[in-house]
Amino acid sequence: MASTTDVKVRVTVLGCVGSSFDQTLRQPCSSYLVESDGAALLLDCGHGSFVSLQELAPEARLDAIFVSHAHADHVADLEAFMSSTEIWRERPRLLASEETMASIVRAPVELVDDILVVVRVGGRTDVANFVMEFSQTTHQMPTLATSVSSGHRRVVYSSDTGPSWAVPTNFVGADLALVECTLERRQPEDSVFHLDAAEAAAVACELSARTTLITHVPPGASTEARLEIARGAAPQLEFMGAKAGLQLTLN
Ligand SMILES: [Zn+2]
Ligand SMILES: [Zn+2]
Repeated sequence: MASTTDVKVRVTVLGCVGSSFDQTLRQPCSSYLVESDGAALLLDCGHGSFVSLQELAPEARLDAIFVSHAHADHVADLEAFMSSTEIWRERPRLLASEETMASIVRAPVELVDDILVVVRVGGRTDVANFVMEFSQTTHQMPTLATSVSSGHRRVVYSSDTGPSWAVPTNFVGADLALVECTLERRQPEDSVFHLDAAEAAAVACELSARTTLITHVPPGASTEARLEIARGAAPQLEFMGAKAGLQLTLN
């Protein structure tokens, strides 16, 4: 049996489209499955992620879902997950900040403590094989980025953020970083609550992950164009483009 220090961590992109769900393209939105030694944690559950889990990882049994914030492209399928019995290893468990919990759960006080786990900026939460830490990003609503460790492997998920996110030092040097890249090249009218490709590259430099996955690209927009800009801005780093079904093993 593997010791806790040499576990393999596998990340499966269930969905990675950002900002909105296109009814014609029907590409699944933000949702990333992190697995380690039979334990499984879902980072966000946007539109289409419930069907994606069944198609792309039918054997996975979840220990918890972490919801970074209350935008629909990150949480739309939550009810389908929470009310399904067969996808959980033991019982449904939802991790979110107090503010997010208040937005996404109708009557949080009526639910069992063990199902709803409130997480905090700067706090640490242990769930199954994973240790999670959290950082507030700069977005329209309270939003948490997370660092997920299992053994010696670590994944960082930026969730949605603007360029002024203060990357904490304990997020630096992960094996894999999932970094949002909603915009290609920032125009004056663009939201300050998202990153363009050059800004995503700057965040990737701060994070110094072994590999950075460029993600949260809006429906129909070009991941390739964003990758080209990011690689030009930070040629020393390895960038990949997220797409549903992409699976990476960290070992
Ligand atoms: Zn989003
Ligand atoms: Zn958002």
